[in-house]
Amino acid sequence: MRSTNRSWMKKSSLAFSFALLFPFSFGWVGDIALQFASLATTRAYPVTVNSQDLMKSYQARKLTVLIVPGHDNIDPGAAFGDVSEADINLTMTKYLLERFGNDANIHASSARDVVSGDYSPEIKTYIAEEKEDIDSWSKILRALATYYRENNALKPEALVHHNSANPRVARVLYGINRWANEHDIDVVLHVHFNDHTRRARSRPGNYSGFTIYAPHEGLPNGRASQELAQSIFDRLNDRFPVSDLPGEHLGVTPDAELIAVGANGSREKVSFLIEYGYIYESQFKDPEVRDKIVREMAYQTYMGVKDFFEAHALERARETTLIPYVFTRDLARGAKNDPDILHLQGALNAAGFYPPSGKTLNRCPINGSFGPCVERAVKSFQSAYGINTTGTVGPQTRAKLNERFSSSGASTTAPAE
Ligand SMILES: [Zn+2]
Repeated sequence: MRSTNRSWMKKSSLAFSFALLFPFSFGWVGDIALQFASLATTRAYPVTVNSQDLMKSYQARKLTVLIVPGHDNIDPGAAFGDVSEADINLTMTKYLLERFGNDANIHASSARDVVSGDYSPEIKTYIAEEKEDIDSWSKILRALATYYRENNALKPEALVHHNSANPRVARVLYGINRWANEHDIDVVLHVHFNDHTRRARSRPGNYSGFTIYAPHEGLPNGRASQELAQSIFDRLNDRFPVSDLPGEHLGVTPDAELIAVGANGSREKVSFLIEYGYIYESQFKDPEVRDKIVREMAYQTYMGVKDFFEAHALERARETTLIPYVFTRDLARGAKNDPDILHLQGALNAAGFYPPSGKTLNRCPINGSFGPCVERAVKSFQSAYGINTTGTVGPQTRAKLNERFSSSGASTTAPAE
């Protein structure tokens, strides 16, 4: 199935192939392309998707979502200690598929099997069989983008520079974009965890937090992708720190370089790439805590998509997968990688006590460890309910926590006084 808005791309591709074959005609072909572009909208690329298109698919109960767990069995991506990005990406995809898969308005699939990590047979065959076509298509797109840039018809300011993908990975990513275009996929969501140069492999890096890379607004799919990405950002932002790497700090980072989001006009409909956090952050270290965090992040991602299509999704849904929860043990400073503490942080966060005032989620992540951040938050919770401000969770504090957070109808609003 080919969507109708491919025709402009075919035309410019044809003209451009011709120009590449006959260099003398390069000038006038390019000039016509530019004139056409500036006459229409003063942008190099026409817009190929808008939010109304997405809404129509959603309301017809067939919003198609392709989840692409970043990297693959040949290139495992970032690593920290025994934490591997490839593994977390697959786990995240598993939880995203669970959420999207239970939604009657959405058809979701993954580009790779969440257990074996192998590409889906359809995508694998497509990339193998269309190899030459994918390569020449991407070559034409790159040449056209270069021409636009050289003639100032495309001026994307780069906020963050990326390492360029090797030829194999580039072909896979262009292949996925082309496949998604041909199969009329509404949304392609790339799942990643970030990394940053570290002084030693065993030591955490300096930056933390998530960011969503969305295509630059000069690209055909830029505007609509940024709008949906913003909705997901708003959800994730309640629970998780926004990246403090300069350039990523906006939360939704416009990008014109990443093939995944549609660099050089390679993607017609919505695409974005979520870097859910830095691989070395404390909340990803312990397997049990990590699993709960990843599940929560997948839930917030899904709810961000729901918010985009249904204004009232927020009111009807659970705020977080971390509550309701029944607290059964005393909890005190010093405990690490403890699921009970993770749920405590989640509950306090939903009720507005965590992170403690004056602190950010970058400094005080929801990570299952009881340090000064949790201590301060427990104290303000205790103080709000007239409990001795010990900073530890004993019987009295636990009873209040359970009163508020142990049943699904539990209110998360702050006390009246
Ligand atoms: Zn990655």
